[in-house]
Amino acid sequence: MEDCIFCKIIKGELPAVKLYEDDLVLAFMDISPINYGHALVIPKDHHTGATSIPEDVSGRMFKVATKIGVAAKRTLDYDGFNLHLSDGTCAGQVVMHAHLHVVPRGVEDNFHWNWRHVEYSDNGEESMCEIAEKILSKLKI
Ligand code: AMP
Ligand code: ZN
Repeated sequence: MEDCIFCKIIKGELPAVKLYEDDLVLAFMDISPINYGHALVIPKDHHTGATSIPEDVSGRMFKVATKIGVAAKRTLDYDGFNLHLSDGTCAGQVVMHAHLHVVPRGVEDNFHWNWRHVEYSDNGEESMCEIAEKILSKLKI
């Protein structure tokens, strides 16, 4: 992809502070972190979203991301980490080359996901199952 900034980082045309690289994935520091140590793990091939990433690559992304999370915990005095992937603009994806965020977290880091909890109309007794049935009708693994 000609104008993809993450492809340019992979090709060495844009600078990045790299943490890990192999034949399938690249991990580097996020330039605008939620917390210090925030990193990104990306597939070396251009995939806009997560759904087209082959299983061996997505598996490697997850493995590398968890190892970076643990290393950040041990060396930067964090208590845990979030792994986060936004698939699609509506989900908050800004850079359209799929990437897995590793966000180191501390008990008192004063960051809160803007999480909400909607309720099923009947406390989930039937409506949740109906929705699950719809998902299952298209779920092929
Ligand atoms: P998202 O909103 O999930 O698409 O996240 C894109 C992330 O890429 C943001 O956290 C940015 O700070 C990060 N980012 C954008 N450009 C660069 C860059 N050149 N080097 C490192 N991180 C970047
Ligand atoms: Zn790309």
